[in-house]
Amino acid sequence: MTMIADKLQRVRSQLSDACKSCFRPTDTVLLLAVSKTRDAATVRQAYAAGQVAFGENYIQEGVDKITSLADLPLQWHCIGPIQSNKTRLVAAHFDWVHSIDRLKTAQRLNEQRPADKAPLQVCIQVNIDGGSNKAGVEPDAVLELAQQIQAMPHLKLRGLMTIPEPAPDFASALAVHLRARALFDALNAQGLGLDTLSMGMTDDLDAAVQAGSTMVRVGTAIFGQR
Ligand SMILES: *Cc1c(COP(=O)(O)O)cnc(C)c1O
Repeated sequence: MTMIADKLQRVRSQLSDACKSCFRPTDTVLLLAVSKTRDAATVRQAYAAGQVAFGENYIQEGVDKITSLADLPLQWHCIGPIQSNKTRLVAAHFDWVHSIDRLKTAQRLNEQRPADKAPLQVCIQVNIDGGSNKAGVEPDAVLELAQQIQAMPHLKLRGLMTIPEPAPDFASALAVHLRARALFDALNAQGLGLDTLSMGMTDDLDAAVQAGSTMVRVGTAIFGQR
């Protein structure tokens, strides 16, 4: 086995243990491999080990990889900040965007999504722990933005994404993730029909799964330190 195949298998079994320990079916959490800063050959190795969904932070770097790996049936997720002059690239190349944090970005992506492609699958990034210098919509502003996005024909609103500050221990990580879960449930109680809660990274994966994450974004545990 390659080192990447070995690490992927470890992350998958960690995920399935985390699911079991809170009585969740193991196939309810999707593993997104965060391949930022890794080259296309490394992504190919991960694909050979069964990984299909990849996350990228830097738009141009991601688009270069998407283009050079177009022979593989991969699913590409944009998880980084999106400047206005990059929305056209994102709309043309990615399958998912997790990092929508304002109406203008959503509007541009909706206008620029090519007509021959499926709607772009999107999540709203929420500033769940009040980090003041961080991207993300404030929790009490999410409902309005969600309703605006739902009216856009070329976007499909799937859920929420969070990037909390690193937590000192399991209990504090869990507490923050449970706040995101409560917001997710409250929005669904309003009829939004969301199915995706994108939260949890290498260091807080177990807490995120326990709080109800449906998609974890893992870089370091699969590819090593950046
Ligand atoms: C880098 C990154 C990750 C992966 O973080 P690791 O700690 O390496 O698992 C997940 N989500 C976002 C938004 C990132 O920027």
